[in-house]
Formats: sequence, structure tokens, C-alpha cells
Amino acid sequence: MKFHIITLWCQMNYSDSARITSVLKNCWFEVAETVEDSDIVIFDTCSVRQKSEDKVTWKLKEIPIWKKVWITGCMIQHTMRNQKITEKKWLPEQLKVWNFAGNVMSKEPKVLWLTSEEINNLKNEHQEVVWINHAFNPLFHTLSKKWPNIELFFRIDDTWFLPLMLKRLWYKISYDKELTNEYSTIIPEWINSSMNLHWKSAYVPISSWCNQFCAYCIVPFARWLEKWFPVEQIVNEAKIHLEHGVKEITLLGQIVNKHPDFVTILKELLKLDGLEWLRYTSPYPTYYSDELLELHEKEQRLCPHIHIPFQSWSDAVLKKMFRWYSEEQCYEFIDKIRGLKRDISITTDIILWFPWETDEDFEKTLKLVEYGRFDMIYMGIYSNRPWTFADKKYPDDIPYKVKHERWKRLNDLLYHISEENNKNEVWNIRKVMINEKWKGEEYYWVTENMKQVIIHTEKDIELGSLVDVKITKWVVFKLDGDLI
Ligand code: SF4
Repeated sequence: MKFHIITLWCQMNYSDSARITSVLKNCWFEVAETVEDSDIVIFDTCSVRQKSEDKVTWKLKEIPIWKKVWITGCMIQHTMRNQKITEKKWLPEQLKVWNFAGNVMSKEPKVLWLTSEEINNLKNEHQEVVWINHAFNPLFHTLSKKWPNIELFFRIDDTWFLPLMLKRLWYKISYDKELTNEYSTIIPEWINSSMNLHWKSAYVPISSWCNQFCAYCIVPFARWLEKWFPVEQIVNEAKIHLEHGVKEITLLGQIVNKHPDFVTILKELLKLDGLEWLRYTSPYPTYYSDELLELHEKEQRLCPHIHIPFQSWSDAVLKKMFRWYSEEQCYEFIDKIRGLKRDISITTDIILWFPWETDEDFEKTLKLVEYGRFDMIYMGIYSNRPWTFADKKYPDDIPYKVKHERWKRLNDLLYHISEENNKNEVWNIRKVMINEKWKGEEYYWVTENMKQVIIHTEKDIELGSLVDVKITKWVVFKLDGDLI
């Protein structure tokens, strides 16, 4: 059996897909490079925006009906939160089990939410339902009716449980039980576990899920019960990547810098041979400790780029968003980074059109952008997500005309700042990791301080190489440079 994984959007999903690959290869399944070459297509989905979910249904149309489809990831997980746990004794008689290991069809569909522990208990009590995963929800029902080739829905946390589910789906497999006893301890298959096109970068998760419950965010409803992985496990995983020639490691977590041993992890990884670049994402402003900033100042291999997702710069909006820092702290964070004796680029996230954001609130955010001179702002257009506090309590009350005007003003300002910042890069020598060959003699990717650059050279450069580039020209949001 050959499988192909379609990984959507976020970095965490790329790391999850590497774990799925590991479990399946251990069951003697083979990786297919393309959908055409596969028997099974696995969607590792995202639900941060409605657009991400729509993309799955859109892509499902492209899968030939004779290929099996499995679906996992946030999209199928968030609808299961906050549902009543159905009485266990109700299960065996009432449920009509069809061909879906992660799906349960009943005459009166109910949503079940079972923890792994409960599944294990069920396993002992009722062999027949051992493979029932986190059961039925309306989304499963709609999708599987429309696409009968969907064979399996499973939670990413239950990846370790896949061999059992597959047996119940009548796949003839053998597997190593030792490997699959808990999600976080699955050693990811050494494949390209990053979004890059080469194999020299790898993502290493250091925590899973999030308990923060920002008012607009669906993540805690799909992936909650935050868990921090042990330092030793993280270092071992990084070592596996480095032994395979990886040069750049990006640590992952929903709030990556909240890990109580975050600085220790960075220091331990910086001791490893072969590591050239170390990055992390996604952080939360208040977990930037002085110790972490000092490390950025001293350690050349810790990339000179700090991302601080401020989201807004109005106390009123931050409070509504349940983001627990103030306007004043935003100033302080920026001052601290600018005060370091190393040139560090700063990027941020801003949510545009958050409900009830007044003109005054928005003006404050523009002031932050002016002050921060960010190298990039990742603008998230507010998207109403089910279950969230914002969805229930903050109706979208911003007129379209105002939205458009705010979007334009923020964009214009960012454009102007990027112009200024990029002008200052000309004649600098920057290290760049080559990710892509463009037309003719052009290569492309980012500098160590996260600036996109187009490199001109007649030489053939291997993807994933780290090269020195002299910046010769700037355009907005991009640099041009020559290979040295
Ligand atoms: S910190 Fe907030 S925005 Fe980030 S994943 Fe957690 S709830 Fe979502």
C-alpha cells in the first residue's frame, strides 16, 4: 500500500505528517511522492481560518474516487470539543459501525468525545469498539456521504493508534507495538519535515497544543491540554535530523517560548555538531525572558530574527482578545530588542478587523507599527471561528468601507517601512539558505534575519546550501543579491 500525505498550512502539521509517515512505514506502508502514485491520500488539515477548511473540500474533488482518503488534523478535531461524553454502556448496542475506523454511524447521530484513556478502557471491556476513535460528528457525516472513498478520520493525537485502526479496517499489517505507545514519543520518519523544498531544514515540536484560549482562536478547541515535551526527547529528535545532514532546526509549539525549559533547550541544541541555524515559532510576547533575549545577542547561530505576535496595540482590544499584555509592554518589548548589541529584525502579527475595534484602537496599532519599524507584518484578517468567545460575544460590526480603508492604511505603512528597512540592507553580506531555483540563473529564499532574497549566479547551487550573498538591490519586501 502506498500513501501520499497532503499537508495543509501550518508548520506543526508538517511535523505531524512526519510522525504519521513513521507509524505507517512501520506497518510496511510505502510513501508515494504524488497522489497519482498512491493508493491512499491522507489530508493533514488546518482550521485556523474558514478558508483552510474550504480548501480541503475543494481538494477532495481532485482525488480519484478509487483512491482511499483519510483525514486528520485540526479540521476534524475542533468540532468534538465541549460535547457530552456519551455513556460508555450505551456504545455497543446503539452504534451501527460502518467502514470508518474513526467514524461511527448511529441512527441518531451523536457526538462522542473519548479520551485515549477511555478508548483503552473500552478496549479492555469491549473488543468490538476498540477501534472507534473520536466518533461521529456532523462534519464526518457530510464529508463521508459526499465522498464515499473517505475511509478514515483520526485525531492526530491518536496517530500511535493507527495500526489498531487499520487492522480493524481489514488491512493486513504487522507492526512494532513499541513504537506506537504515545504521540509525542513517536520518532518522526526522517523525511522532509519542514515546508522547505530541500531536506536541510527540519521542524522539531517541543510542546503540543494550547490552553491560552485567545478570544478569536480555534486552536485550543482542536488541540488543547498543552503538554511540554522533555528536553532529552527534543534533543534526541534534533540529533536524528542533524545526523541526516539537516542544518536548520525550527522549534515548534503553539506558544513555543512558554516551555519552562525553553532557554535550556536552545542552549543544549546549540551544543550539537552540524547545527547552523536555530529558529523557533510561534512565541507569545510575555514569555520573552531577558535570558532568551541575551541568548539572541550572544549566539550567532540563533538567527537574528524575533517574531512577536502583538495582534493589536490597543489595551481595549487586547483585553477583548484575551491577550494578557498592555500597550506599554509592547513598547518595552520593542525597546529591549532594539537595545541588544546585535542587529535583529523584528516581525509581528496583527489581526485586522477584530470586531468592536474602533478608529481610535486602530490608530494605536498604526502607531505601534511606526514605532516597531517591523520588517514584516503578517496580517490576519479576522475570521469568525466556531466555539470561540469572539464568535459568541463579538458580532462583526465593522462596515466594509472602514475595513477596506484600514487594510489600505496598514498596507501602505508596511510598504513604506519595508522600503526604508530594505534600503539599509544594500551592500550587507548575508547568509542565505537556498530553497528554490527560479528561472534562469536565479535562486530564492530567506536570509538569516528572515528577509526574502533573489540570488543571481551562473553557478549551480544545490538546494539547501548555505551561501554568502552580497545584497545589491532592494525592492519592497524583497532583496536582490550576488553570490560571493
Ligand atoms: S496563544 Fe492564542 S492565538 Fe496562539 S494558539 Fe493559543 S489560543 Fe491561539
